[in-house]
Amino acid sequence: MTTSPLHVGVAFNDDDATVEAMLAEVSVPTLLCSMVHITGDPAWIRDPDIAPVGLFLNEYQGFMSEDAKAQARSVALEHVLAFRDGGCVLPEPPGPDLVHEMMNFLACAAVPNDVLPMMLAELNLDGGYEPGVIHIADLPAETVESFQVVVIGCGQSGLLAGIRLRQAGIGFTIVEKNSGPGGTWWENRYPGARVDVGSHFYCYSFESADHWSEYFSRQPELAQYFTDVMNRHGLGPHIRFDTEVVGAVLNDLTGEWTVKVRNPDGTFEELTARAVISAVGSLNRPLLPDIDGINDFAGPSFHSIRWDHSVDYTNKKVALIGAGATGFQIAPTIADDVEQLTIFQRTAQWMFPNPNYHEPVPEGMKWAIRHLPYFGRWFRFLILWPGAGVDLTGPRIDPDWDDSDGIAVSERNLATRNFFLGFMTEQIGDDEDLLAKVTPDYPATGKRTLQDNGSWLRCLKKPNVELVRGGIDRIEAGAIRTIDGCTHEADIIVYATGFKHNDYLWPMEIRGRDHQLLNEFWGDKPGALYGMTMPGFPNLFCMYGPGTNLASGGSLIFHSECQITYIMQCLEKMLRDGIVTMEPTREAYNEYNLRLRTEISQMVWSHRSITHSHYKNTEGEIHTLSPWPLHLYREWTLTPDFDQYDLR
Ligand code: NAP
Repeated sequence: MTTSPLHVGVAFNDDDATVEAMLAEVSVPTLLCSMVHITGDPAWIRDPDIAPVGLFLNEYQGFMSEDAKAQARSVALEHVLAFRDGGCVLPEPPGPDLVHEMMNFLACAAVPNDVLPMMLAELNLDGGYEPGVIHIADLPAETVESFQVVVIGCGQSGLLAGIRLRQAGIGFTIVEKNSGPGGTWWENRYPGARVDVGSHFYCYSFESADHWSEYFSRQPELAQYFTDVMNRHGLGPHIRFDTEVVGAVLNDLTGEWTVKVRNPDGTFEELTARAVISAVGSLNRPLLPDIDGINDFAGPSFHSIRWDHSVDYTNKKVALIGAGATGFQIAPTIADDVEQLTIFQRTAQWMFPNPNYHEPVPEGMKWAIRHLPYFGRWFRFLILWPGAGVDLTGPRIDPDWDDSDGIAVSERNLATRNFFLGFMTEQIGDDEDLLAKVTPDYPATGKRTLQDNGSWLRCLKKPNVELVRGGIDRIEAGAIRTIDGCTHEADIIVYATGFKHNDYLWPMEIRGRDHQLLNEFWGDKPGALYGMTMPGFPNLFCMYGPGTNLASGGSLIFHSECQITYIMQCLEKMLRDGIVTMEPTREAYNEYNLRLRTEISQMVWSHRSITHSHYKNTEGEIHTLSPWPLHLYREWTLTPDFDQYDLR
């Protein structure tokens, strides 16, 4: 068990005034849960007058009144000081029924029994949950060490793989094309880049979360986080930066992969691996639009992920093509500095309110996460729960609903639309033209739903910002011409046009049994058993593989922890049983993919009214997203079912 002080709460000795000032800034519902630990008294969560009255994603105060919060803080202060004076000694921990009651209290809903195992694991009150840790110390160290694994990519999932492989004593090399760790958070350096999953959940479950300076961290802080994790876990010597995997070939007989890499100096080298873990992202290969004249533009132009920081956009006319998650962050960040910002939006985006989107984490919250017993764990729960997709009826298409107008897919989806529209109307209801331009023509949540604190619509109202809705005809030397015949002058073009999201593992050439190319095996219908393994490609495991992207909430780091839990047990099986090749049976692969496709076709993301979406392949099918609630995916990946595998 790893009940580190950082996990439980570090003993403190701050003076009364400091503690009072800290408590003034905390999430009160979370504080009340911590108070149960501090005092051993469940009364803290049983007073209906001092309790959260609702929970909405990224709202941390449970809509409690100012009076109720003040009262809670004042009573808590006395007990927190007594706890300090008593040497920060905790009473007996709450039993399982009380913990469940505390979850219900914070969630403002009954947490169903089948979701409990996931929530208990994530809360990790006893410190015993270590996703992906395997115990193979009984095996000869040389056998374990010589079982070489190549991990492709050093983003969040590659780092996680490295952490677990190192702990297990398995030999491994992480090959990373970039010069540092973090993957997308290393590469995406455009102005305004920040995560849109709460940082206290978008982090490893086993690392402390008391340091985040903003609730939704910006790129530099995220890049630093991944560097710190890499250093803390001693991964540096195992990583080869500026080195790109160009392909891998399986030896059918030995089950070994020969992984071909391009070194920083351009030379090629081959690495041999008993297993390969692909930990590459699917949102990092730029997709440039197919627009006439794209090469005729005379000024600087670049894709958002290749932002050219040597180009000064101050007082320039900037054209921003694309208004997805990336464009949504760039525009408000640069608008005040440019002479003119013209945003070309092909499809409008749905957005929902998140007042905390740009907010700093107050010192009191950091202090509470660091010092108050289990405060940090309950705060993680508070963010995880509303986005856990426990109830996916929201994005599900109601077959009995008349969706012929393409506006909604169910009664609930219509209510969501009205809620989102209300949020937009509140801000720009006085400008009918603008409201019409930003109102999507497809059902709510049908594409990546963006969150906002008002910055996007505020930006669009600025006098030097124009939103152009409609198609682009062609790009000229100093302008962009739209199909309505208008010409929009531009000094700089930024393409925030997304990524080759459907081309998994592209452009690597991966050859499995009988020299079959993985890209050909997949075609434009990539699939994998639980998003991880494919028949014909033994000993190859994907993290963030097909069917594992999340559109319904959650955090990809959570998914990675599920995947590494599964993969490490597969490696352990290979080691213990001397298995040469491990691959899923065709039946298991087909059955899972059919199940996934059937499910996804019933979700709003597949709706026919959505004509442009990076989730869809050229045939309008979705193979990238997971339709599963987090707790189901976790349950299925907790222990591999080796009957689904061909083991030789
Ligand atoms: P995206 O969501 O695919 O958006 C691309 C934008 O470019 C869309 O507005 C798209 O229009 C437009 N576009 C593409 N081709 C075009 C063309 N030929 N002509 C005109 N417009 C064109 O890409 P993204 O914004 O880079 O985001 C991709 C994903 O990255 C997100 O879904 C999210 O998962 C992740 N991301 C996350 C964050 C965050 O955490 N905060 C930030 C950025 C990105 P259509 O809508 O009509 O296709």
